[in-house]
Amino acid sequence: MQITSPKNRGAGRGWWTYPFLFSIYPVLHLYLRNIREVQLTQVIWAAVVSLAIAGAGWFMTGIFSSHRSKRSLALFSFMTLFYFYGLYYDQIAGWLPFVSHPMRAHLLAFVPPGVIWLALTILIFKSKRSFSVLNRVLQTAVWLLLAWNIGGITMHHAGQSFDHWRESRSGIQRLPALQTRTPDIYCFVLDEFAAPESVRRLFGYDNSAFVASLRRQGFFVAQQSRSLYTLTEPAIAAILNLGEFSAVKDPFLQVRRNAVASLLKNRGYRIIDFACQRSLFLEAADQRFYYPLAHASIFFDGFYRALFERSLLRVLSDLWQLNKTDLSLFYRERILQVFKELPAVVKTPGPKLVFVHLFSPHEPFVFDAQGKLGDPLHIWDHADPAHYLGQYIYISRRLLQTMAMILANSPAAPVIIMQSDHGYRGSRRRGNESQPVSRAEIILVFNALYLPGVPLAGIAPSLSPLNNFRLVFNSYFGSQYPLLQNP
Ligand SMILES: [Zn+2]
Repeated sequence: MQITSPKNRGAGRGWWTYPFLFSIYPVLHLYLRNIREVQLTQVIWAAVVSLAIAGAGWFMTGIFSSHRSKRSLALFSFMTLFYFYGLYYDQIAGWLPFVSHPMRAHLLAFVPPGVIWLALTILIFKSKRSFSVLNRVLQTAVWLLLAWNIGGITMHHAGQSFDHWRESRSGIQRLPALQTRTPDIYCFVLDEFAAPESVRRLFGYDNSAFVASLRRQGFFVAQQSRSLYTLTEPAIAAILNLGEFSAVKDPFLQVRRNAVASLLKNRGYRIIDFACQRSLFLEAADQRFYYPLAHASIFFDGFYRALFERSLLRVLSDLWQLNKTDLSLFYRERILQVFKELPAVVKTPGPKLVFVHLFSPHEPFVFDAQGKLGDPLHIWDHADPAHYLGQYIYISRRLLQTMAMILANSPAAPVIIMQSDHGYRGSRRRGNESQPVSRAEIILVFNALYLPGVPLAGIAPSLSPLNNFRLVFNSYFGSQYPLLQNP
């Protein structure tokens, strides 16, 4: 007859492991809800940290009991407190008396759940019971939660792989072999760069000197050019897929695996990607420039920040908020590094596609018209249009210098495409509201092209960015994409 030692009663068959599984549940839950934007590496890091926290908690419980069953129950109650504190805090924050510092608010808020948690923990360790039934119920529940999330994540990825496989089999259009020459191609997406017509209407500012200067350099500059999209990702997806964007598919994925980069790669182009968000990294890139704000602070990363905000570490994120105006220097650097890195890239051997997603004049407003940092308290301020306009004027000037630099330093005349993803959208955020902006205004965009050797008179004045790469491929590679109707 075998005697089960009281130490391990109820601990057989791993019934005590569920608090560890439970510790990665919030990570998977948040991932599944934001699966299009979050990278798998972020999930792995978060899961590792979460498991380490559970591991430390497990070690602590060992100080009070050697009974695995009790230890796992105590750890489970701690992980529950840890991961639901932030959600609880959101519910009760409005009821708290006014305190001047987030630390004090959190100390106050922590009292009720803290007391309940402490009482439960003492009860668990003092009790004579083994809790084996409760542990089994909890283990089953945690497995079900995890299975639900893992199932959802697997289905998403399987669906994506299947789409990719089907597309690669259907053999996307290939550019014909006929090849006159292979110019370097620069494609700038200027985030929220309003059309000159819009700037005049919305802000009473005349940017015609900018347009005239581009035309003097040989650019075609469209008038009344429209995009179909008010959001960044579908707009870029459409530009980089020859105007074909399917709303039923994931716009992030349609950017990451876009047709333009793969067509050019097949023709021997190097792909150089100036990205401003990880979720839009071009997969075909041979070289990438990326200024990760997450290095300045982990709270710049939406996924990590959301995890912090749900947890007991919520206070760290609140403390960061207090100081966040100091971070305008990093927002500036994200834009400035593009202008800093480009000159060296221009001189590298071609043929190359240089794709630049410039996150400006989109907020935060960290440049005035002279390029200086304005008032850090107004970097999100749309109520006074001067903040957007200052940044718009500065970016316009930097773009003119950049175009001149590219044209002067390219070994052979390059193709340059410069377009906004969407126009000025304004803001409805409380305290920073702009005047309402109509959809018609938002989809009006700036669109300029430098096409050496192509007669500009033949281009429709209202050319939409949807047609930009069709025009480029038809002009230089002998393809015959019919131009889409300009919206
Ligand atoms: Zn945008």
